Amino acid sequence: MQYLAPKTCAEAVAALAACDGDARLLAGGTDLLVRLQADMIEPDLLVDIKHIDTCQSIEEGPDGFVIGAAVASAELGEHASLTQAWPGVVEGMGLVGSTQVQGRATLTGNLCNASPAADSVPALVASGAVANVIGPHGKRQVDIIDIPTGPGRTSLAKDEMIESFSFPARGPRSADAYLRFIPRTEMDIAVVGVGVNLSLDENGTCTDARVAIGAVGPTVMLVPAAAQALIGSQVDAAALQAVQTACSDAASPISDKRGTAEFRKHTVGVIARRAAAIAHQRAQAAE
Ligand SMILES: Cc1cc2nc3c(=O)[nH]c(=O)nc-3n(C[C@H](O)[C@H](O)[C@H](O)COP(=O)(O)OP(=O)(O)OC[C@H]3O[C@@H](n4cnc5c(N)ncnc54)[C@H](O)[C@@H]3O)c2cc1C
Repeated sequence: MQYLAPKTCAEAVAALAACDGDARLLAGGTDLLVRLQADMIEPDLLVDIKHIDTCQSIEEGPDGFVIGAAVASAELGEHASLTQAWPGVVEGMGLVGSTQVQGRATLTGNLCNASPAADSVPALVASGAVANVIGPHGKRQVDIIDIPTGPGRTSLAKDEMIESFSFPARGPRSADAYLRFIPRTEMDIAVVGVGVNLSLDENGTCTDARVAIGAVGPTVMLVPAAAQALIGSQVDAAALQAVQTACSDAASPISDKRGTAEFRKHTVGVIARRAAAIAHQRAQAAE
């Protein structure tokens, strides 16, 4: 197995394109190295992105935040203005693993590992962020929701990589939240997870909303009916109840050892209602 630590994305994608065998990108390695050690994969080439400058930074500008693909979760949590603008994205990623895992794990790896239960993905989808993808033929932007195509699968070509994520500019009275249900208090996989992102006008009426649910289908999905229930409302009890119903209706989970399909369908609605209430409270407090 060959290991490369390129300094640019161009070098990284050229190495991916030139490899005839199984080439893998390595970010934090907290998914990939576990699978490697368990002999689940036998890559011919590992391309480490942690030495690429453009993948390392968190940039804040008039068009919003750009977060590099190799930025570790702990760095997100330590970034005050990012945490203020996107508390749900930061808290989703902040639930991943332990302190040790937090020092390595990235949004990119969480997204591209393509687990339906990945903790950062519902909030990422709800945020409306896009992935900046680079390949041998140039750059393209891809909606987050279009990256995972099923458990363990993504829409990225073999010689493409995510360089960064661009988040939309934040208006006033806007906030997000991520909430999951796990049977323990930490270090567990989400039985359900929900991301809610919303904006209010000066009268407290919701003007924009996105609601995304995870672990209740092969990929994270948006629930337009839940967003519609919020938009135009004061995010009152009736609107929150409609969010709960819409999310339960939209869920198509499987039964497994961590929960039956029936339990998941009910719980995703309850968690969605609570996540929407948290996002609402935060938006009221946001300037
Ligand atoms: C103890 C432990 C606890 C965990 N707890 C949780 C948890 O609570 N919730 C949760 O969601 N996950 C959890 N995880 C899983 C894992 O930590 C996360 O999914 C993490 O975000 C993966 O990020 P990474 O940077 O380590 O990815 P890596 O392992 O480096 O990569 C993961 C995948 O992404 C691909 N990839 C990497 N970089 C790029 C790129 N630039 N472009 C395209 N593809 C790329 C890799 O090739 C690989 O397929 C846990 C893992 C461990 C070991």
